[in-house]
Order: sequence, then structure tokens, then C-alpha cells
Amino acid sequence: MGCRFIALNDGVDTIHKNNEMLVILKNVMNDLYARDTSSKIRAVKQSTFRTGKYVGCYAPIGYRKSPADKHILEIDPVTAPVVLRIFDMRLQGDSFRKIARTLNEEGVPSPRGFYYMAEGRPNLRGETPYWNDVTVKTILRNEVYLGHMVQNKTGTVSYKVHKQVSKPKEDWIKVEHTHEPLVSQEVWDAVQRLDNHPSKGRSDSDGEISLFADVFYCADCGSSMRILKDYRSRKRHEDGHYGTYKAYMCNRYGSGGKVACSMHYINCKVLTKLLLLDIHAKAMLAQNSPAVLKEKNLAQKNAASLEQTKALQATLAVVDKRLAELEKLVVAAYEDKVKGVMPEALCVQLMNRYEDERRGKLEQRTQLTAQLEATQEDEQATDEWLAVIRDYAQLEELDRPTLLRLVKRIEVGEKYEIAGETHRDIKIYYNFVGYVEL
Ligand SMILES: [Zn+2]
Repeated sequence: MGCRFIALNDGVDTIHKNNEMLVILKNVMNDLYARDTSSKIRAVKQSTFRTGKYVGCYAPIGYRKSPADKHILEIDPVTAPVVLRIFDMRLQGDSFRKIARTLNEEGVPSPRGFYYMAEGRPNLRGETPYWNDVTVKTILRNEVYLGHMVQNKTGTVSYKVHKQVSKPKEDWIKVEHTHEPLVSQEVWDAVQRLDNHPSKGRSDSDGEISLFADVFYCADCGSSMRILKDYRSRKRHEDGHYGTYKAYMCNRYGSGGKVACSMHYINCKVLTKLLLLDIHAKAMLAQNSPAVLKEKNLAQKNAASLEQTKALQATLAVVDKRLAELEKLVVAAYEDKVKGVMPEALCVQLMNRYEDERRGKLEQRTQLTAQLEATQEDEQATDEWLAVIRDYAQLEELDRPTLLRLVKRIEVGEKYEIAGETHRDIKIYYNFVGYVEL
């Protein structure tokens, strides 16, 4: 391909005469060449990622590279307790900054500190020996501690721009269960949930985290639901304990009164029962007719159906084929002109036409790819949800880890009457898929 470039310098064309033509030709050649080499380099790197082999310079804290194979991570008995402690402190409600401060005060080395200690050499590059909120946060969000390998997190912007940037999450390459996990899925989920919400109002007056904290919201004003100790809780049981009769009300109503919102009162036990019913119903469906549930869910997301996906893929293949043709046509037209087979005016006309079509096709390609990716994501999310929810058909008691594993958000509407009957709309948004209407 390189030899064709010579034609650009053969002196037949002068820049001012053929500017237009040269610009088109250069565009096409650049795209062809760059896409080719950079995709080859990327492919090699990414295929290593896909095997789940660790390729980083040093192991994440808590792990070390296995002496037998430096691409495999094993638990590091020296640093693993530090990681476990960080997850523990977070679960107890400590902020990233407070965790960092505690570790610094106790003289626990930072990840880099540990690294240089293990290497037995001084930290000459002056990398920080202290913990900070970012180091802590990075650890709490690193799925490596679940036993998964997540790589390809950074890279260059494109083959044209070489700056290193964080890549969007969709591009990360994750291989599950490549090594021994340090934390359980439950601990992980609970910690991630905390990450998404500040710790405000999470515990009731007993100091325990309320079951629905950070999950339960007023459908009308969007504010969180506040725990309301019902008057009955003042009753003492015979053993001297106060009752645990709890209810929720809209927080905005609680602080702003009737003008701000309405009460949205709901008893905690009633809410738990309704939630269990919904979970049971969906779990049964997931067991008995997963295909129906999946199709329904995708339809609600406006995701392309299986047939539509096939059609999209077919269109994309056609576009790709035409793009390759157009690139060849541009080059061929130019070669014909250089050989004198084609008059210059005609060549310019042709190349302009090809280039117009090429731009259109490139645009179309971007749109098609985005559409396909969105559909694939929805499909994958639904599959993951089905795999999780199906195990909960017999769930009898709802504890917080289970709730957080299953549910992202619950919204309660105000009571209303239809034909003398009281109704109340409760929307449950599940993890992975959101609201699922049956
Ligand atoms: Zn409200």
C-alpha cells in the first residue's frame, strides 16, 4: 500500500491544482492505514486481557504476582488484611477520607509503600507514602477483590490522539473468577450501594441501619422516605424492650408539611411483605418462563428484539463492505488519472462523489454500532438479572444484603380510593433491569 503514496510525490500534481483530490486521497489512505495497524496492536493487547492474564506492572494491594506465573494473582498475606479492613471500615459507614486518615495515623504503609517494601528498595520516585481518599476509593471499587480481572481501563483516545485516558466502562475487559476473591459478593454489593449514596439519615434512632435506607423514595416529590417510629412503639414488651413497629413517611412532608408533599405513610412490615410478593412472582417467572420475561423486559426498554438485532447486524455488514469498496474506488480513480487513463476533471468528480458517500456511510456505521451496543447491554443486563432473581422464589425474610443485591430503588405513591377500596402504587426498580412490569 505504501508504494501508492509515491504517486502523491511524482510531480504530476501540484498542490494548488489538485488540492481537493489530494485531501480526499489522504483521508482515505490515512484511515485505511491507521485503522489497520492500530487495530492489530489493539487486538494483540486485548486478546491477552481476554485470557484473564494479569498484565499490570505491579499487583493491586492485597495480591501479589504468583512466583510461578507473573500473570496470575494470589493473595498476599501481608497486605490482604489491610484491604479487608478498608472494606470493613466502609461497611461501618466511614468516609473515604476517614479511612485514609485512620490508616495514616496507624502508620500503615500506602499501596506504593508496601510495593517498595516488598521490592526491598527505597521509593526514589517520591510516590506518595500516604493514604488518601482516592486510593481508598479506588480499592473499594476494584473488582479484582471479587476475584475478577478487569483490564483495558486506560488507553489512547484513538489512533490519532495518543494521550492516555480512562476508558469508558463499556470498553473494560472483564474476565470473571481468575483468582481467589478477597471479599464476598454481599460485602461488595453493600459497599457499592454506600458509594452511590451519602450516609445521611441511614440509621434510625437505635443506631442500626434501617432496612430500606437509600432505597426507598416518595414517588411524588422524589425525596427519601424517613423512618417514623409509630406511636405503638412506645409500648414496652414484657421483656422490657420497646416494640419495633416502624413506618415510613415522605421526608419532605416530614420537614415541610402539607404544602410540601403528602405523608405517603406506609408500614414497614407491609412494605416488606409487598416486596417479598413481587420478588416471589418474578423469581417464579424467571424459573418457569424466562424467555417470556426477557422479551417483555426488552420490549419495555425499547431495546431491539432478536429479529431487529439480526437486521441491524446485516445492515452493518453491508455498510462495512461498501466502505471498503469506496476506499478502493478512490485509490483506483486516482491511479487511473496518474496513468493518464482518466481525465483529471472526471477523476475529481468521481472522487468527490465517493467521498460524499463514504462520509455518509461512516456516519451510518457509527449510529448502527451504537444501537447494537445498547441492545447488547440491555440483553446482557436482563440475562444477569434472570440468573440472580430466579434463586429467590422461596425467600422468606428480607435482610439488607439481600435487598441491596436485588433492588435499586422503591417508590411509593400516595393512597387513593377506587370504588371504596384503598390503593397505593409501589414501583420496584431492580438492579440490572429497573422497573419490570408484568
Ligand atoms: Zn413526597
